[in-house]
Amino acid sequence: MELNKKSISELRKLYIENSVKPTEVVQSCLHAISNKDKEIGAFLDVMSEDALRRAAELEKESPEEMPLYGIPVAVKDNICTMGYRTTCASRILEGYKPPYNATVVDRLLKAGAIIIGKTNMDEFAMGSSTENSAYQITKNPWNVDFAPGGSSGGSAAAVAAYMVPVALGSDTGGSIRQPASLCGVVGLKGTYGRVSRYGLVAFASSLDQIGPITRTVEDSAIVMSVISGQDPRDATSIPDAAGDLVTGLNMGIEGLKIAVPENFEEWDIDGVLKKILKDTIEELKGAGAIVEPARLPDMDASIACYYVLANAEASSNLARYDGVRYGFRAKSESLDEMYEMTRGEGFGDEVKRRVLLGTYVLSAGYYDAYYNKAQQVRAMICSNFETLFSRYDLIMLPTVPGPSFKLGERIGNPIEMYLSDIFTTPANIAGIPAISLPAGLTDKGLPLGMQLLAGYEGETKLLRGAAALEKIYKFNED
Ligand code: GLN
Repeated sequence: MELNKKSISELRKLYIENSVKPTEVVQSCLHAISNKDKEIGAFLDVMSEDALRRAAELEKESPEEMPLYGIPVAVKDNICTMGYRTTCASRILEGYKPPYNATVVDRLLKAGAIIIGKTNMDEFAMGSSTENSAYQITKNPWNVDFAPGGSSGGSAAAVAAYMVPVALGSDTGGSIRQPASLCGVVGLKGTYGRVSRYGLVAFASSLDQIGPITRTVEDSAIVMSVISGQDPRDATSIPDAAGDLVTGLNMGIEGLKIAVPENFEEWDIDGVLKKILKDTIEELKGAGAIVEPARLPDMDASIACYYVLANAEASSNLARYDGVRYGFRAKSESLDEMYEMTRGEGFGDEVKRRVLLGTYVLSAGYYDAYYNKAQQVRAMICSNFETLFSRYDLIMLPTVPGPSFKLGERIGNPIEMYLSDIFTTPANIAGIPAISLPAGLTDKGLPLGMQLLAGYEGETKLLRGAAALEKIYKFNED
């Protein structure tokens, strides 16, 4: 039995009938990591000994009351793990060990999960290929010449390569859903505020959300139920509980109203993906859903708005890395020089580009033209979505315009890289939940993802729709 290939729900059954022990599951995942990760490069840190110790401790407890009992979890390296390096894949946080856990980590541990390692990412979650890591490149398990997507590329690759059943990612403009799409796994970003951001190293605070990357929709629902909920340490966390996300999964799609982009036939997207979208519409209709073309918020405006706001917020959030409080400090003669050298040597090119852009759009002369304008566009996109969700339960569109791309192919062209977020940023701008799930493969065998969006706090419907799509695609059954 290859325990590393089991889903959370399968492992749970095995634990409850007492036919496996957490130590065996952890060993199986560690074995998969030591076999494959030299090639894939998904992990920045693997906590083998501590994971095995915790597994042994859990064996004294019973699985019933703990929804993630004995489940190995990988955590993106921008989520604080007490006593373990949390570097955001940046030199500037080299060696930084937070003195506290992120709320999500505490929630996972309380539910019986075992943290097994920290995953590679684009530095400070800025990027779409995980090539911006200061430490290593992560490869796509489907074809190692290709990018795993980003910024949570390490998390998506770890799950796709069967090294763990679940990994946490963070999604500011698509960083959970885009790598999930490129690696053929399920990625969920909840409503803004659904999951506490306490202990998530901030990129763009009004957009950031933590969420699970898994191989099945059910596992996504299980993990979301554990990590979501109001947190007194995050004033933006929402008071209403997510409710029972798992029970409704098998309700089917009958009666749900789904909007699809009215002009997608003209879109410049992968041909196989377009065909999948067309076929899915027919399948959904056949299953009793009402599917209608609708005018979606302007995607070009959304991506432009995203890159103004995200960078503005990043330039302010990243001001704290000055060589005084955390991690790396450059050798220097004076205080000013210390700041300059630390930031100059500690940040990579993409982070510097964002800080410069962000500072520019916030500067006195350009604030109105860029930052304020982007806030207005954000309000417009939010109100467009509100109108749409007064008529429809869900919106369906691809996660990314195409499959993965070759490592190195886009890294020299930031604009092209930014455009892979065209379909994912709207959900962050509007703070609404969205999920990506694997929908098929290109002729070259690379995964393609389909995305569903729901209205504010609409996770139950979102997951119900995703479960129905999962049944149509049967991606994991091939
Ligand atoms: N790729 C986007 C960016 O580079 C999204 C990043 C994210 O969601 N963290 O900003």
